[in-house]
Amino acid sequence: MARAIYPGTFDPIHNGHIDIANRACAIFDEVVFAIYDAPPKKLLFTTEERLALARGALAHLPNLSVTTYVGLTVECARQNKADVIVRGLRNVTDFEYEHQMGWVNHQLAQDVEYCCLFCNGDYAYLSATFLKEVASLGGDTTHWAPPAVLQALREKLNLPQVDPNTHTISRKGSKFAYRD
Ligand code: ADP
Repeated sequence: MARAIYPGTFDPIHNGHIDIANRACAIFDEVVFAIYDAPPKKLLFTTEERLALARGALAHLPNLSVTTYVGLTVECARQNKADVIVRGLRNVTDFEYEHQMGWVNHQLAQDVEYCCLFCNGDYAYLSATFLKEVASLGGDTTHWAPPAVLQALREKLNLPQVDPNTHTISRKGSKFAYRD
């Protein structure tokens, strides 16, 4: 039985991550979506919040579980009895980084394979950083993340709420359309 982990920061989970998770679940018997507890970068969401958002967004995948981890990713793979680490590849920049990460992980654990899946073209430039930045400026991020994630972003960023009847939100006196 092939078991994989899909590790990352997921701050927060977005449609590019979900696409990779969907495809990993079609390839592997079991997938563990592993949220890195303490990456060396500033996070918007707490570990518990990232966990809850990921669980909600991935609930449709029966062969996927969501967990958090600290320490080495290869140790997370071993603890979860996984043979494979899955990552998503968007572009050449990701390739350079993932190539290095693959080498490092192979040095640490020859028994764990590093598997990169090319991202869906629809999400080729989508990153959690852009999602947060555009959301914070009131831009339309409807197609980038599930509604629950967008709602969590609005709350976290203290943005005005969407009017469910008119589908409009107001921000600092101006109004713009919000499409569901
Ligand atoms: P990291 O784990 O490097 O901190 P993320 O948590 O944002 O970064 O991403 C986790 C994984 O998802 C990485 O393998 C990353 O390349 C991949 N990923 C990020 N954005 C996308 C996207 N738009 N499409 C497909 N995969 C993506």
